[in-house]
Order: sequence, then structure tokens, then C-alpha cells
Amino acid sequence: MQLHHQKHHQTYVDKLNAALESTPELKDLSIVELMKQVDLLPANVIEAVRNQGGGHYNHSLFWTIMAPDAQGKPSGEILDRLVEKYGSFDEFVEQFNDKAVKLFGSGWVWLTRDFETVAMPNQDNPLMNGGEEPLLGLDVWEHAYYLDYKNKRDEYIKNWWKLVNWDEVETRFNS
Ligand code: MN
Repeated sequence: MQLHHQKHHQTYVDKLNAALESTPELKDLSIVELMKQVDLLPANVIEAVRNQGGGHYNHSLFWTIMAPDAQGKPSGEILDRLVEKYGSFDEFVEQFNDKAVKLFGSGWVWLTRDFETVAMPNQDNPLMNGGEEPLLGLDVWEHAYYLDYKNKRDEYIKNWWKLVNWDEVETRFNS
């Protein structure tokens, strides 16, 4: 995770900043605003904002919704909504994991604000499709698990749930 944060995430930040050198008029926009307007931006920065900006937004979210050995479960309204939609928390996890295992190539699986589980390619996120900020996201790029898990994406996914910080997910839901 340290290498993931200090090298991979940093590279997205550096490349986004470099790309935005050519468009000073965008420099006051927040990363959320850039994500929401990505398709309306000047043509020469769209790809960089989608890929590098997406990388920055997604990883920034990712670090906050994990905590060391959190071992948590959701409660309150989040648990109620998951049970309402999926039947049980375990069934939600199973459907989420299934999408994460089957996502071809690199991408993320999101829990949206509407409690949908959505797999998206590359560094795409729900904001780019007119959606709200997601509640939770799992990075299934190989760089996220290759050092510890080699090719065993399914084991990474299964163990990742032990790190999910549901208190932070709840804070996101309430904000
Ligand atoms: Mn990553």
C-alpha cells in the first residue's frame, strides 16, 4: 500500500498537474469538478483528466475508506440499505466481489450512492457518468495486489474487506 500510494498515486498527481499547465483556466477547479465536467473540458486535456485525474480522485477516496485491520461491518442506514437491496450484507459482498474478479483488465468496482455495485474500466468513476460521489471503491489494477498476491486477484479482494473503514463510508454517505 505504501508503494501504491507513494509511487502509483503520486504519478497520477504529477501527470495531472503537468497536463493542466496548458490550461491555467482550470487550475481553480476541484478534482470533483474536473471529474464531473471531464467531457466538456478542452480537447487537449480530456484524456489526462480522465486517466490521471481519475487516478488521483479514485486513490484519494481509496486511502480514506481503509484502516489497518478495521475488521468492520456496516451498521445503521448503510446496513439497512444493503440488506434491502441485496438480501444480506454477505450477498452484497458476494456480488461486489464477483464484479471485481470478472472485471477484465484494469479498473475499479464502486458502491454508488444509490447502493449499486458498478465495475468501471481504467480510472473511470461514477462522477464521469453524471453520478454522485461513490461511497466505496476497490482498486483492481494489478499494481494494487501484484506484490503481495501475485496473480491471485480473488484473494486480494477477499482480504480487502478486512480493511474497509465503515465509519468513513458512513461519513461519506451522510455528507
Ligand atoms: Mn491503484
